[in-house]
Amino acid sequence: MPVLNRIADFTAEMTEWRQDFHRHPELGFQEKRTSDIVAAKLAGWGIEVHRGLATTGLVGVLRNGESGRSIGLRADMDCLPMEEQNGFAHRSTIPGRMHGCGHDGHTATLLGAAKYLAETRNFDGTVVFIFQPAEEGGGGARVMVEEGLFARFPCDSVYGIHNDPSLPLGEAAAVPGVILAASDRVEITVRGVGGHAARPHVTVDPVLVGAQIVVALQAVVARRTDPLDSAVISMTNFHAGSAVNVIPESAVLKGSIRTLQSATRDLMEKLITQVAQSTAAAHEAVAEVKYVRNYPPTVNHAAETARAALAAGKVLGESRVLRQRPPVMGAEDFSYMLLERPGAFVKIGQRGAEKGGVPVHHPLYDFNDDALPIGASFFATLVEQELPRG
Ligand SMILES: [Zn+2]
Ligand SMILES: [Zn+2]
Repeated sequence: MPVLNRIADFTAEMTEWRQDFHRHPELGFQEKRTSDIVAAKLAGWGIEVHRGLATTGLVGVLRNGESGRSIGLRADMDCLPMEEQNGFAHRSTIPGRMHGCGHDGHTATLLGAAKYLAETRNFDGTVVFIFQPAEEGGGGARVMVEEGLFARFPCDSVYGIHNDPSLPLGEAAAVPGVILAASDRVEITVRGVGGHAARPHVTVDPVLVGAQIVVALQAVVARRTDPLDSAVISMTNFHAGSAVNVIPESAVLKGSIRTLQSATRDLMEKLITQVAQSTAAAHEAVAEVKYVRNYPPTVNHAAETARAALAAGKVLGESRVLRQRPPVMGAEDFSYMLLERPGAFVKIGQRGAEKGGVPVHHPLYDFNDDALPIGASFFATLVEQELPRG
C-alpha cells in the first residue's frame, strides 16, 4: 500500500516507540512518563511544546510559511486498569495496567506524523499536535477544551484516529454524522424498611423493588423509543444486603446508558427517573435517582469528513475507504473537540492475517504496528492537503 515513503522509512522506529509505550502503560491524568517522552521527541524535532494542559496533556505547534490556516491532530495516551494476558516481549510490565485500547499506537502514530512534517515542511500554515490524557472515562479532551485548548491554539479543524480491529488492515472508515454514542450512567438508591427475613409483611423489601425496577427499565427501550433510533440501558451493578436472614434497608443499582440522539438522551433521563420512582412508590419504597451525563455522541462534520476520506483515499486507494457504516454504541471523548471545532474521527483498520483482530478492551488485544505508517501517512497527507503550499 502506498504509505508515504519517508514515513515507511521509519516504521521500525515508530514500532519501537509504540512497544515501549505498551510496556509502560499509564492511567488517565497519570501519563507522566509518556508525556515526557512525547515532549522530548517533539522538542528534538524543533516543534514548540506546551505542557500541563489537563495535568499530563501536551500540545506541539509547528508553523511553516505565511498562511494563517491551521489544523489540529489529536492522539490519546492513557491505558486501561486491566490485566494483560499477552505473553510477547513488549507486554505490560505494570500489574493491572494495559494498553488495551491501542492508545499507545495512536500516540506513536501522531509522533510519526510530527517527525515527518517537521522534517519535510511541505505545508503552509500551523499544525497543532494534541496529545491528550484520560480518554478512558476521565474526559481528558473535555478538560483540555475547558482549559482553553482551542483559544490558546486555534485550529480551523480537528481530526483524530482510532484503530479498528473489525476493519482489515489497509482500510479506513471516514463516516459523516453520528458515529459513536453518548455515554451516561445512572445510580438508583432504593430505600425500604429492613427487618427479619421471616417477617416480610412488616418490611419494605428494597431487593424486590430493585429487581422490578431493573425489569421495568428494559421496557423503556423496548416500548418508549423508536426502534430505528438505537438506545441501550444496561443495569450492571446491584448491591444489597449482608445476611441471608435479613431483609436489607436499601439497595443500590447502577447502569450505563447509550444513545445516539440528544432528544433520546433527554428522554432516557426523564423516563429512567420516572420509572424508578413510580415503581418504588407502588411498593411504598423510595428511589433516589442520580443520572450523570458523561461523553456526548461523537458527530463527524460532513465537509471535514469528506476531506479526511479524500486524504485516506490518497494513502490507501479510494475504494478502501468506507464512507458509510452504522454507528456503534461505544463512546469517545474526542466528541468534546468536535463540539468546538469542525472535524472528523477516522477509524484505521488493523485486522491483519495473523494479528490485529482481537477487539479493544480484551486482555489479549494488541495494537497492530503495521497500522503505524498508515495512520501517520494519513495525518501527514491530510496536513499537506489542507495546508497546501502556494
Ligand atoms: Zn477504549
Ligand atoms: Zn480508545
